[in-house]
Amino acid sequence: MTECPQQSTNQGRLPGAKVAVEPDNHTGSKQWGQLAAKPGGRRFIRQMQGQRRLVMIRAMQEENSRAGAGGRLADSQGTYAGIVNRIKGFGQELGFASIGIARADVSAAAPWLMRWLALGRHGEMDYMAKHASLRAAPQQLFPGVLSVISARLPYWPVAADAFHVLGDSKLAYVSRYALGRDYHKTVRHRLQKLADHVRHEAEAIETLEREMPFACRVFSDSAPVMETDFACQSGIAWRGKHTLSLTRGGSWHFLGEIYTTLPLPADVPMADHCGDCRRCLDACPTGAIVAPYEVDARLCISYLTIELKGAIPVALRPSIGNRIYGCDDCQLCCPWNRFAEMGDADFAVRNGLDATPLTTLFAWNEDDFNTRLAGSAIRRIGHQRWLRNIAVALGNADSSPAVVQALAARRDDPSPLLREHVGWALNQHRQPSA
Ligand code: SF4
Ligand code: SF4
Repeated sequence: MTECPQQSTNQGRLPGAKVAVEPDNHTGSKQWGQLAAKPGGRRFIRQMQGQRRLVMIRAMQEENSRAGAGGRLADSQGTYAGIVNRIKGFGQELGFASIGIARADVSAAAPWLMRWLALGRHGEMDYMAKHASLRAAPQQLFPGVLSVISARLPYWPVAADAFHVLGDSKLAYVSRYALGRDYHKTVRHRLQKLADHVRHEAEAIETLEREMPFACRVFSDSAPVMETDFACQSGIAWRGKHTLSLTRGGSWHFLGEIYTTLPLPADVPMADHCGDCRRCLDACPTGAIVAPYEVDARLCISYLTIELKGAIPVALRPSIGNRIYGCDDCQLCCPWNRFAEMGDADFAVRNGLDATPLTTLFAWNEDDFNTRLAGSAIRRIGHQRWLRNIAVALGNADSSPAVVQALAARRDDPSPLLREHVGWALNQHRQPSA
């Protein structure tokens, strides 16, 4: 996803699964009442109210300061508007498709995060629960933050046709975002350049005009940040019913954020253009989109193949088909992706991962896996889970001597996890007795 959920330091954590997991905020504060009834709900609401107050106080301080400065009001507004224009221009030079500004306030979306967690829809992603308060309170994660600069970088690569690969059970399907270079570093590197530019702009403002010392921090799926919510608030996307960020140029993009203490003027949120469409809900192979704007990660193939550490539930294995790392079905079916922007060259396909036979990938030993996937987000799941996923796909493949032979070669693997999945897969190819 996705989302994507992340820990405060990204060290030792899996890449963003692009599991569509961030909560919907369409009905906003109506959820406060339900939340208050939950254990810890009142404490959380108090935290959120405190955060909202802080943002309002900052806004009032800004207004008072401007009013007190009399004729400086227009100058100040002009100064920050000019900065935003230059930030956006520089962002485009760095390859970002769009840049928007949001206030550092997610209080409308936070109750949905708590509800999603309370329902257990995050599955084994314990970091989502552990860092919920940081995710829901940007000021706790980065004290003094007033504005969030949200950036969007497209990744749709030139690759073998996705539908063709999904329809050929001999081939492995890898989610489009993971076919090339690991996005964490690429997005972060560019955001850092943008942040350097923001710092340069901030230094040019008279100290008198600034509310507080300048500071900023960049995030690329690397900390508990509600990135989709900020993208929507900042007007660079809307949230599709699959819960991922979406634009008229499609949904094949990464998001990144810069938290800053600068009081930048916020952009207007983008209108939702999903309308009556519900193709993503109907296309999901496992029914993980349980309602518009609501995903149960425990059912999502991205979660099952990337985030889940143990055995993949047997009942869900047939629906996984040949998807060995992530799933794109809810995006492939989306009408807005007919107009998909081409992705950045940094995300070009590597190692032929867009259409490689399952049996070839299943034969990779651990050295092959680590060497060939160096610099790829896939490497973080480790060789064992990689083989686990391919075993399931081979179990779903059309029967052939090559498929059965490949599975049989790993029947006695030292890993109990892999042995169990291989056993299941071999069973799928047993002829029913007459
Ligand atoms: S189609 Fe369903 S299973 Fe696949 S990524 Fe979307 S929500 Fe997850
Ligand atoms: S498939 Fe339809 S409902 Fe789903 S995100 Fe795209 S436009 Fe929205």
